[in-house]
Amino acid sequence: MPIATVNPANGETIKTYEAMGTEEIERRLQLAEATFRTYRESGFADRARLLNRAADLLDEDRQDIARVLTTEMGKPVTQARAEAAKCAKAMRWYAENAERLLADEQPADSDVKDSGASWVRVRYRPLGPVLAVMPWNFPLWQVIRFAAPALMAGNVGLLKHASNVPQTALYLEDLFHRAGFAEGCFQTLLIGSATVDEILRDERVKAATLTGSEPAGRAVASTAGEMVKKTVLELGGSDPFIVMPSADVEQAARVAVTARVQNNGQSCIAAKRFIVHTDVYDAFAERFTEGMKALKLGDPMAEETEVGPLASERGRADLEELVDDATRTGATVLCGGRRPAGDGWYYPPTVLTGITREMRIHREEAFGPVATLYRAGDLDEAVLIANDSLFGLSSNVWTREEADVDRFVRDLEAGGVYVNGMTASHPAFPFGGVKRSGYGRELSGHGIREFCNITTVWHG
Ligand code: NAP
Repeated sequence: MPIATVNPANGETIKTYEAMGTEEIERRLQLAEATFRTYRESGFADRARLLNRAADLLDEDRQDIARVLTTEMGKPVTQARAEAAKCAKAMRWYAENAERLLADEQPADSDVKDSGASWVRVRYRPLGPVLAVMPWNFPLWQVIRFAAPALMAGNVGLLKHASNVPQTALYLEDLFHRAGFAEGCFQTLLIGSATVDEILRDERVKAATLTGSEPAGRAVASTAGEMVKKTVLELGGSDPFIVMPSADVEQAARVAVTARVQNNGQSCIAAKRFIVHTDVYDAFAERFTEGMKALKLGDPMAEETEVGPLASERGRADLEELVDDATRTGATVLCGGRRPAGDGWYYPPTVLTGITREMRIHREEAFGPVATLYRAGDLDEAVLIANDSLFGLSSNVWTREEADVDRFVRDLEAGGVYVNGMTASHPAFPFGGVKRSGYGRELSGHGIREFCNITTVWHG
């Protein structure tokens, strides 16, 4: 895949970049290692000052960087601005909370005494340069949710961003430099995915985090496993959205539309499988389909656009194949299902029903604005359908019965259960999945501690 900005709204190649060569990569690895030696000694207050400054700069740049995001990957510009604002918020949150989250821990007095120590502390120390392999779908957010905690913990970052968002990748490096971080604290490596392996094998790189598809996750995790390096994997999802009879169906259907088509449907935590109790199935299906049909598909730079093009031609072809496979084997199209004529990689909001276990779309992630509807006879069946997936990122449930909530929280195989609302990440809450959606957590105290050397200090 060339490293290039190609506008998904018309297929035009805007700018192509040379991949960095061996010498430049070596220079950057040396710089990362050297910078870590001094940066690790900085205090929380200094790191927080720099991170807050980066947040202020990002706020100032919001209009311009949002247009870059939209040009590179096609998300509606209103959503690109919201993404930039969310990043600034997360940076401020970690600037304010990192010291508390990484404060020394003191084991219970009785255990300290039992060990024969006069005192014991658990200290969170940084690991060193961490490689971040990131996807294009939230080109700022995915990086910031790694970088903000990593930098506050005293680590330094090396970013290998997706090949179709090079301008955003270079912007991020520049942002941290302008904020006053030393040059080696955060560096962008303009490289193709084939180069990731050798960087991961370099002893100066201490750990890796990858957000992306399952094959990419498997490749990085297996090399990291060989090298005995810690990894966090945030992979795909096919989140269920369950609607029970006691739910506010009107509201559930409205939120379901947003939950499915946010980011042009290319979000790991988008609700993808809509599992509706038979008592409210028809009412939900009708309202949901109406909502999907009413969405404004078009130029992502236009303020009124709700759904833009998919990020790549390949992405649209993959989505089409899933829909075609389903319709060929008996699924019914309630709306959409056919690409519009003209330039750009557009695909309309689509609702499919009559899904069977044999269909690819039941098992695979639909990375675009395509929803599948399932009918469930009761809560047990809803849970069975929801868990009948290799993925386990998050889940959404709609009910007014607390007993239902207890069952869902007990039984759904996912890293999140969002009740009467859609999944949305927040800096204070852990984010991540189980099963093929990956392992480890980002955000919150859990996220910042993933790349720490958790050190026991025992004093006799
Ligand atoms: P992708 O193709 O896996 O790419 C992600 C990153 O991995 C890119 O930087 C890519 O580089 C790199 N990569 C690809 N193959 C690799 C390999 N064999 N070895 C090392 N690096 C490799 O995924 P994507 O299409 O950008 O993103 C969509 C996927 O990400 C979806 O499955 C989505 O659900 C998932 N996602 C998950 C989360 C989460 O938090 N769980 C969040 C967002 C997205 P190149 O671009 O150079 O190929």
